Amino acid sequence: MKFVFVTGGVISGLGKGITASSIGRLLKCRGLNVSAIKIDPYLNIDAGTMNPFEHGEVYVLDDGGEVDLDLGNYERFLDINLTSNHNITTGKVYRSVIEKERTGEYLGKTVQIIPHITNEIKDCIRTVAEDSGADITIVELGGTVGDIESMPFLEAVRQMNAENKNDCIFIHTTLVPVMGSVGEQKTKPTQHSVKELRAIGIQPDIIVARGTDPLEESIKSKISLFCDVPIEAVLSAPDARTIYEVPMTLEAQGATDHILAKFGMGAPEADLSDWGHFLQRILEPKVEVRIACVGKYIDLADSYISHTEAFIHAGAELETRVGLQFVDSDDLLADGDHSQLQGVNGILVPGGFGNRGVEGKMVAVRYARENRIPFLGVCLGFQVATIEVARNVLGLDDANSTEFDPETPYPVVDLLPEQRGVKRMGATMRLGAQPIIVSNGSMANELYGKELITERHRHRYEVNPKFVERFEEAGWSFTGRSPDKVRMEIGELEGHPYFVASQFHPEFKSRPGDPSPLHLGLVMAAVEHSTLPRARQRVV
Ligand code: GLN
Repeated sequence: MKFVFVTGGVISGLGKGITASSIGRLLKCRGLNVSAIKIDPYLNIDAGTMNPFEHGEVYVLDDGGEVDLDLGNYERFLDINLTSNHNITTGKVYRSVIEKERTGEYLGKTVQIIPHITNEIKDCIRTVAEDSGADITIVELGGTVGDIESMPFLEAVRQMNAENKNDCIFIHTTLVPVMGSVGEQKTKPTQHSVKELRAIGIQPDIIVARGTDPLEESIKSKISLFCDVPIEAVLSAPDARTIYEVPMTLEAQGATDHILAKFGMGAPEADLSDWGHFLQRILEPKVEVRIACVGKYIDLADSYISHTEAFIHAGAELETRVGLQFVDSDDLLADGDHSQLQGVNGILVPGGFGNRGVEGKMVAVRYARENRIPFLGVCLGFQVATIEVARNVLGLDDANSTEFDPETPYPVVDLLPEQRGVKRMGATMRLGAQPIIVSNGSMANELYGKELITERHRHRYEVNPKFVERFEEAGWSFTGRSPDKVRMEIGELEGHPYFVASQFHPEFKSRPGDPSPLHLGLVMAAVEHSTLPRARQRVV
């Protein structure tokens, strides 16, 4: 078992996750079996209890794990399915050690960070790597070297290296800022951060230097000299046109040759043809559409990262650039103010929790429905679409979800029966991959090309089965249901070019070359919409 540890220095947000994913993809393109682990040094057991303002999107795995969004990057870049064990947090490690202390596993001993916590970390990493059967496991350490929280993790991986020198490689990502009017690339932050890493006992094998432009040769040699890394192991990672370009940039500098030589491993030449083809379709689109994403976490693009990626995958398939425009749903509340939606070719209402922003999303749904603008609703978006149809098509005034109005006369969206009495918040939603039967002849059936699908979930509420008949009579048909038929999973509005919504999150399974069918459907409909004469784009 080989490990590639990816650490970060200088500042956060350098794209360490993309570096880790890109290296993983490159190794995979050399015929190796690669897996990935993310270490998050916070005390939460998982990301499920954090809101997107804190942490970005909560990504959901097949097994129901609510994890860091970097696992989404790994799944997309490596085209693998991970389990929640691939996200190790301080919370999980401490919980396990404290549990062992209570059961007497360390009887007679003082339980300490070294060796008990560090041993637990090493065991977790090795077990996950072993279970995945990978030749090489990428382990990304969250945070920045020097943070108090990450110390036990760095100490643990230092020990792993000391125990098996030939099986571990360290990649350190840093920032090379440009200063002054002459635009000089500065290496000092990199030098300091490598010094900090060395003080912990870790010598990086490879340095990935982020910056706006490629590193100049003289800067590479300076970093090489001061940080004691061969010059061919100083890799430049300038700002990319798309994250999917990063593997190409790193490979052009011999990234995998260097890693494999260090491991003393042979591997076939890299086959990057599929990736290159996918990249080319992103970079050279033939048409462009505008899609509005109406949500409430719009300050951070990270909050809807899987949707953004799903649109890139769908766009690549259709040689279409999807211009995503984030709209704050609260801004739509002023009566009749649709200005932000004017001229868009499609509207997405993504998932969410809590009251704020819901009524604004309702405005967006109504606008899409009445003006025949292609629409996709996901999770909360599906529930909001259902409420909007109840209010404005069925005439059920004040229809709502009991999440937002427990006293509503028409609870068209209600708590899942098994959620009654659930008090604990962590990992208690309806989570992960669940089977869905898609009805023959529906739009969803056409897009998925099959009847039995599996998609990932994360919700506590659902369409109330008591109202289903009335909805279907009004043209809001539930074309996807759980196998026992009691759970509504997909809704489609009859007579609309594309008005589709799902209780599940199709964005989490979207991959390069295999886009989410419902996002693909939206982009296809948006392309169609963009070709309509201006006057026909608005019907009402
Ligand atoms: N708040 C809704 C629920 O719990 C929707 C959840 C979501 O969009 N992920 O059912």
